Amino acid sequence: MSKIDRRTFLKLLPTVPFYKVAWPYVETAVHAARTQAQSSDRPNILFLVFDTLSAQHMSLYGYNRETTPNIARFAEKSTVFHKHVAGGNFTSPGTSSLMTGTYAWSHRAIQLHGLVRDEYIQRNMFSLLPDDYYRVAYSHNLLVMSLLHQFRGDLDLFKHTRELCLADGQFADRLFFEDYTTAFWAESTALVGGATPPSALFLSLLDRFARSLESRSFKNELSDLYPRGVPNLHNLFFLLEDAIDWIEDQVVSLPQPFLGYFHLLPPHEPYTPRKEFVDIFTDNWQPPEKPKLFGAQPMPQANLNRERRLYDEYLAFTDAEIGRLLDNLEQQGILDNTYIILTSDHGELFERGIRGHVTLTLYEGLTHIPLMIHKPGQQSREDVFQRTTAADILPTLLHLTGQPIPEWVEGAVLPTFGGATAPTDRMVYSIEAKSNPKYAALTEATVAQYQDDIKLIRYFGYNADDSFEMYNLKDDPEELNNIYESEKGLAEELTAVLHDKIFAVNAPYRRE
Ligand SMILES: [Zn+2]
Repeated sequence: MSKIDRRTFLKLLPTVPFYKVAWPYVETAVHAARTQAQSSDRPNILFLVFDTLSAQHMSLYGYNRETTPNIARFAEKSTVFHKHVAGGNFTSPGTSSLMTGTYAWSHRAIQLHGLVRDEYIQRNMFSLLPDDYYRVAYSHNLLVMSLLHQFRGDLDLFKHTRELCLADGQFADRLFFEDYTTAFWAESTALVGGATPPSALFLSLLDRFARSLESRSFKNELSDLYPRGVPNLHNLFFLLEDAIDWIEDQVVSLPQPFLGYFHLLPPHEPYTPRKEFVDIFTDNWQPPEKPKLFGAQPMPQANLNRERRLYDEYLAFTDAEIGRLLDNLEQQGILDNTYIILTSDHGELFERGIRGHVTLTLYEGLTHIPLMIHKPGQQSREDVFQRTTAADILPTLLHLTGQPIPEWVEGAVLPTFGGATAPTDRMVYSIEAKSNPKYAALTEATVAQYQDDIKLIRYFGYNADDSFEMYNLKDDPEELNNIYESEKGLAEELTAVLHDKIFAVNAPYRRE
């Protein structure tokens, strides 16, 4: 279906008046209310964040399937970071680290739909950039919606997820916009037990009926184009193509300079590519089986291999849409005056019986994420092999826009963007703590600590004894060989550093 055909089709979608109660549209007057923006020659800043995009699966980073030929073209005009680490293994901590320049033990968005601690409402990219930036944000992902809702006071344009969707399953937040996350959970918990997608709090039968009619219609219409199903997460259906079209429209018409934060779901499951990407990787590749250690799950290897192939095909589709967007932005001249930051919030795993990212583990499939930054006018590629973290993004933005970097920031200005060469003993962290209380010391969590290529993983609080793994990613990028026991001296040294770090970050929660 061409773009025009699809648009025409969407206009013809049946509308259900009850279901279309509008979100109190948040096009705030923040920008106008700020000091009248002087004309500025500051560059725009455009974030393209793709959910669940693992660097371990990108041909750009050496993966053996050709999943990212379009991103690779973009890399030729960008700075490519090869050792970039996610803040955590799912959306809330990963995105919060990106936005706040801190680790999860500080910002505390550690649970599903987790929110950052109140003080971070004033400690993030939207609140700290110079006032003349016009701020716009959109996310397909409702967990990111919760975070953006916290930051809405600093957004000039905050577009609701459902506005770029074919259908979504939420209703209560239309009535209780000011309490978005509470409304989401109340609705979800009241009707379906909390763990599954929400349904309508009021008139739920009518709502479900309307939704089934609506979705049956577009599912039928789109079944040829999307043989594995219309892209969705739970009851939220969307076309990546529409979001890409909207972003393109936005960036050519927004007041400048702008900060645009766009967070799109693909290649998050379910893996539903457009038809031309279905079955493109029929290579029968059998990746090596990996040792099953702490946190392993029972999915058979053959199923994991099949799921991996489906993910890779969805990633190739996502890559094609990214390529389409970047080509169009280039034609419009946007690349000449805009920093474009292409990254992810976390990755995905198909190993040790684990499929997806709902896990206690922090293996590279989950924590190794892409980072590419195109500088305004950049025409050639740079490669950075220093270890970097999602928490480095905020201080880098502040540095580029001439703002002071507050002392609470845990990241550092990125190499080649003004950052000093990282000291060789720099530690970078990734944190999983879904089951830990938000306002309490970390006592049940997984922490990965990187010193360049040496990665130490500590699982603590799950059992009576802690579990540890250590890998040398330079020699063993697939984490096949746990060297925690064989490299005893180094393991003890790094374990002591990690213990001290956790002791320090727990201090505010400890009763002396
Ligand atoms: Zn995510």
